[in-house]
Amino acid sequence: MTSAAGVSAPVTVLVFLDPAFEDGRLADASKPQLMATDQGATRGDGVFESLLAVGGQPRKLQAHLDRLAGSARLLELDIPVEDVWRRAIGTALSEYRGRPAPVPDALDPDGHAGDSADTPADEAVIKLFATRGVEGGDGPICWVQASRPSPAGRRQRETGLDVILLERGYDSEVGERAPWLLLGAKTLSYAVNMAALRYAHRQGADDVIFTSADGRVLEGPTSTVLLAHLETSDDGAGGVRTVRRLITPQQDSGILPGTSQGALFTAAKAAGWELGYGPLEPQDLLDADAVWLISSIRLLAPVNHIDGHEIGTRERRAQLTAELNALYATIG
Ligand code: PLP
Repeated sequence: MTSAAGVSAPVTVLVFLDPAFEDGRLADASKPQLMATDQGATRGDGVFESLLAVGGQPRKLQAHLDRLAGSARLLELDIPVEDVWRRAIGTALSEYRGRPAPVPDALDPDGHAGDSADTPADEAVIKLFATRGVEGGDGPICWVQASRPSPAGRRQRETGLDVILLERGYDSEVGERAPWLLLGAKTLSYAVNMAALRYAHRQGADDVIFTSADGRVLEGPTSTVLLAHLETSDDGAGGVRTVRRLITPQQDSGILPGTSQGALFTAAKAAGWELGYGPLEPQDLLDADAVWLISSIRLLAPVNHIDGHEIGTRERRAQLTAELNALYATIG
């Protein structure tokens, strides 16, 4: 659909998990679908997942379904079993792919193509939602959404990011002490994460890396932090040996376990990289050969600067990003 101004209307498909519909119930995304008393809306009380589908195939689906089930367990939410989600995702994807491809946006006054030209037609963002449902109601409300990826993520993958460090205010062990903070769950309460991003944008930065009250590197508001270190040494036979190491913050420091980082680590290990899990301090990021924010939709976004300090060199970042992108492309 294209408006008079030449702007493509977003294509969004909704499929509700409904016991009366084996493959899920399609719903009109342009009409209200939730009760105003749904606790997902009134309290952010629910869980979600975001994943990428390419050519109609969801990537890392099992890892996302496992994390959704884990988040739901932490919130004591009784959500449908995996197979019900899989069928609803299938319905959402076939409906999404059956809709007409968006018409490219009009050229801007400088002759550049608009946003939709940047979005590959065979990619879709799939989101899985489960809320606690309406107060006094029958339990969780669950649905799947399929929509177009934002072109901003694709651009950031190519241009890289300027990032600032922001304190999250908790120490890195609070997740263990205070499980009710739900730090390892992907809950619908992302207002703090979005506020951190707006704060960064006001400072002229693109994104954020959170640090803990005890000075540890944690995660981005919507991503996992990853760094690479290259160490060269004499191989004892007149040559040079390079050890390539990928490191991410330790998983029990109150961060969300990233499915993209997990899958990339598996591929990197098979390709000869050494792997490490924190603890990391800000200086480790500044000393790295490259740092990325990695997530399922934006994928590997290289970090150019942290608090104004350049990370590695442009050439090294580009070379390592290309290498890891090639590894990531091998992931199912
Ligand atoms: N950490 C947070 C807080 C996130 O919101 C996300 C993704 O949205 C991630 C990490 C990365 O997770 P994944 O790689 O599974 O997308």
